[in-house]
Amino acid sequence: MINLGRYITGPSSNREMVKNQIINRGIRDPRVIQAFLEVDRKGFVPENKIHQAYDDHPLPIGNGQTISQPYMVAEMTEILGLDKNDTVLEIGTGSGYQTAILAKLAREVFTIEIIPTLAVKTQKKLEKLGFLNIHYKIGSGFEGWHEYALYNGIIVTAAPTDIPEALVAQLADGGRMVIPVGERSHHQTLYLVKKDGEDIHILNKGAVAFVPMVKE
Ligand code: SAH
Repeated sequence: MINLGRYITGPSSNREMVKNQIINRGIRDPRVIQAFLEVDRKGFVPENKIHQAYDDHPLPIGNGQTISQPYMVAEMTEILGLDKNDTVLEIGTGSGYQTAILAKLAREVFTIEIIPTLAVKTQKKLEKLGFLNIHYKIGSGFEGWHEYALYNGIIVTAAPTDIPEALVAQLADGGRMVIPVGERSHHQTLYLVKKDGEDIHILNKGAVAFVPMVKE
């Protein structure tokens, strides 16, 4: 029998996407790789973009927003260095792809989305997929989510012009925040912010392109 799969070039499955775009580009954390194998990106792109589900770039998800490039999601997740007992705050639920990955790696995920229709749609999808450790909030992420602070990890998937102080304040001791920061749309720097007792360390992780974090 002819194995058609052998003749298809480019990623035709989630597994292939993970191998080509995530493992081959240097993501090493086995737990992160496992999470990407378990969460099929196809479930997070709109119906009319299914044929591009495993492509190496962001995709529009409606409301002027995008699902991030798979490698970007993997890199930010690896930098965040989550432990299975960690609680994590995500700003910018979007398609819920990053949210699902976080939910595989951490104990509890708290996610905030500013666009109500997107927030509701994504919550339904993640609940249907069986995730029980995700908590949803509609609103602006600049003030974080005070009720459940402190967090071991905070991940921001839209770019503010400065690091919001309220988010730094909601980091636990030893906590990490991964955040794109920049004045211009789609021209930002990714930072890792680490809280170590009274000290805050900020590390530059390179140039990135995100949608701006909108003020209400
Ligand atoms: N991780 C998501 C990225 C979505 S793009 C994914 O891969 O699908 C960024 C998201 O941040 C958008 O859904 C946008 O609506 C949301 N966002 C922008 N500004 C925000 C704010 N101030 N508070 C919360 N969410 C915000």
